[in-house]
Amino acid sequence: MTRVYVLSKGGKPLMPTNPARARHLLDAGEARVVRVKPFTIRLTIATPEAVQPVCGGQDPGLTQGVVAVRGDGKILFRAEVKCRPDLSEKLEERRNYRRNRRYRKTRYRQPRFDNRRRPDGWVAPSIRQLKHEHDKLRGLVESLLPVVGWAVELNKFDFQRLENPSIAGREYQEGPQRGYFDVREYVLGRDGYACVVCGSARDRRLYHFRGRSERPRNLVTLCGACHRLAVSGRLSFSVLLESYRWAARVSAMRALWLPSGRLRFVAAGQVSALRSVLGQVKTHSADALLAVRLAYGVVPINGACEVFRGRYVRLKNRQLHRANAAKGGVRPVAQARRYLVSRAGVRFRRYDLIRYRRRQGGVLTGYINTLFSRGAVRIADHVGKELYSGAGVDRLCKLQDADTLIWEVT
Ligand SMILES: [Zn+2]
Repeated sequence: MTRVYVLSKGGKPLMPTNPARARHLLDAGEARVVRVKPFTIRLTIATPEAVQPVCGGQDPGLTQGVVAVRGDGKILFRAEVKCRPDLSEKLEERRNYRRNRRYRKTRYRQPRFDNRRRPDGWVAPSIRQLKHEHDKLRGLVESLLPVVGWAVELNKFDFQRLENPSIAGREYQEGPQRGYFDVREYVLGRDGYACVVCGSARDRRLYHFRGRSERPRNLVTLCGACHRLAVSGRLSFSVLLESYRWAARVSAMRALWLPSGRLRFVAAGQVSALRSVLGQVKTHSADALLAVRLAYGVVPINGACEVFRGRYVRLKNRQLHRANAAKGGVRPVAQARRYLVSRAGVRFRRYDLIRYRRRQGGVLTGYINTLFSRGAVRIADHVGKELYSGAGVDRLCKLQDADTLIWEVT
């Protein structure tokens, strides 16, 4: 069932309603649309703000599952969102450009050598971004529904912090293996006690995927089946390396989660045990529902809730110069259009949600993917698949401004 999220006149989240009632409110001028996906209206008249408590659930990962469940088990929000996969590659690229630039004679200021120390509590930017994407989705749900608390499924507990709560800074970074019984325990913990390739927690074994040494960075957790594939050479090194990096990043992010009054943590083991008791299939949003059930004792009534599917994207590209010189060896400035203005004065940019009236009749809803300087755009769906190319900017109607979190629209 489709739900319409409702905000009070003052912008506070109320209980959601059905599309028919929302239509009625909009027609009567008692509400206005504030968001198209997820569809949200804001009342223009003051009403009593009676709300029921709603519990949120989250299964963090590279694809995160997020749910919101009312006290009687009715599911009010359910989503699966893919995080950005390209961040560390982009940083690597930037590092190479900078290194390259330092070798050319392009100094315009005195070099500095006193800024090379990482501050205390430093975490890798790719991990910070992952955490930000999880926080942002919880924030979105809290802006739509009166959420009182969150149940979060966490694979790995921070053993170091449990052992010594005052541990911080350098000391903390220097001993990642502290608190673990041995290297095997550490690698299993880092990989979330599951096969990094297929996610299975059965028949785990460690595999030396580069070199023979017992250093954790050379070891990876695999299940029996994937281990056999790896040994016989049917799992490529790049697949193993990529899976290992993802698994390590997700676990490193988990160290950033701090318990608070609003967050309750549920161990992944408990979730998978309950999942097998109930005979459910593993999806990210189903796991988030199980976390709510374990932390708050709310039994969700299954079905009857649309699953939103979304993805995080990069809005800005601040590249100043093209990396590769064009023919003739001149390095052009990156001057791709950042926005286009229609005759009516509306500014369009990448990832704006738009509706396009086709010349040959019919309408099309999608995201702006590419801007052409001739005043046309390419329209794509939320995963970037082209829907239409060369749509004139004057025939576009903007439904929603660009955001780093975009949703599947049908
Ligand atoms: Zn496996």
